Amino acid sequence: MKDILTDASRRAIRYLEELESRSVAPSPEAVANLKAFDEPLPEGPSSPSATLKLLDEIGSPATTAMAGRRFFGFVIGGALPVTLGANWLAGAWDQNSALYRATPSAAYIEEISLRWLLEILDLPAGCAGSFVTGATVANLCALAAARHAVLARAGWDVEANGLFGAPPITVIVGGEVHPSVSKSLGILGLGRSRVVKVPVDGSGRMIAAKIPAISGPTILCAQAGNVNTGAFDPVADICARAKAGGAWVHVDGAFGLWAAATRRLKHLAAGIGLADSWATDAHKWLNVPYDCGLAFVRDPDSLRAAMAVTAEYLPTKSEFRNPADFTPELSRRARGIEVWAALRTLGREGIAEMIEQNCAQARRFAEKLSAAGFEILNEVVLNQVLVAFGDAERTKRVIEAIQSEGTCWCGITVWQGRTAMRISVSSWATTTADVDRSVEAMISVAQALPQ
Ligand SMILES: *Cc1c(COP(=O)(O)O)cnc(C)c1O
Repeated sequence: MKDILTDASRRAIRYLEELESRSVAPSPEAVANLKAFDEPLPEGPSSPSATLKLLDEIGSPATTAMAGRRFFGFVIGGALPVTLGANWLAGAWDQNSALYRATPSAAYIEEISLRWLLEILDLPAGCAGSFVTGATVANLCALAAARHAVLARAGWDVEANGLFGAPPITVIVGGEVHPSVSKSLGILGLGRSRVVKVPVDGSGRMIAAKIPAISGPTILCAQAGNVNTGAFDPVADICARAKAGGAWVHVDGAFGLWAAATRRLKHLAAGIGLADSWATDAHKWLNVPYDCGLAFVRDPDSLRAAMAVTAEYLPTKSEFRNPADFTPELSRRARGIEVWAALRTLGREGIAEMIEQNCAQARRFAEKLSAAGFEILNEVVLNQVLVAFGDAERTKRVIEAIQSEGTCWCGITVWQGRTAMRISVSSWATTTADVDRSVEAMISVAQALPQ
């Protein structure tokens, strides 16, 4: 056992050390070599060290260097070393983290993480929380709680009776709603398309004045942090209008919610504490390993009603919070532990510094690319930059060339009809020098490409 785990940690450390000197995107050759995994199912046992060797020698080179300093795709961070270490230790514990009596350590640490999260994100102290796989499932959990609450108020028990014959629920979203919210609405039987869409402005913010008059069971989904522009819906205004009509307000703040953890950017999140539920990610801006998303719900009973199970063989009655009362899963890994490790190690100031630094780095990207004559399509309010290198065709070719050049990695998007490269700065590890090196690579790749 000791040899196997020592070998694995040695390989993992070497992988992380070598990220600096490799291309961020895997080479086409490394991807082609994945064929080595395509063996027939083994008939019998073999050496564990040979298995790890294959995984490392063939698997590692075909990864994208998301854990490194110059990956700027998809608003995702890398794992802070202490969170990876905590993940390894918690992996060794191998706790089935559903119930307090069975896994006190995991359940207790998650409860502490939850309390700290509510403090740092400036959310109401009594909220319930779910530690789930990502913001997609966090949206699902929060919207399940919303569905429970708005129907309970109309005298309908949706967990018992489903939606057949239920009073209809009006669902209001912004024109820039994230697809994971739409998907969650679909899973919950509320419909991906059966929504009222409120128009947005040029930054993607919902125009609060265009929210229709609200009556009857209603759920309104707002957004903190647009995946393209980083813009925030005016949540204070939205809550004022929605609450007057008795609607439940949910905020998808997968990465944007973290603005509330800083002094400089907190104003963007003004009014967010007035909502009823929130979804965010820890594997994005908190820089913990996959997978970790978080749902928070102001009324714990709504979330528990939507998620809890009871069974004779399960010790569900305890003096303490049972994690499984708040999640779709029963058995799962103790994903609150890395959250705790990040919050405990960085503290309020460390977290604020990480977020603010990434936002300053985004502004630096925008300034330098703009100075080089490229068009920045968004107001850089957070950590997102949209840049065009000319028309759609040319921008697409430049992005592909930047990805294969390998210094850094950025993705493609279409923003309000314009094709753009999307730069998301969200890693603890990124330095100013990394920004400068990446900008230089982008500029020389773009200039070298024939018009
Ligand atoms: C990333 C993101 C999601 C989905 O999060 P996952 O962790 O990938 O499930 C939802 N909403 C927004 C605004 C996002 O940026």
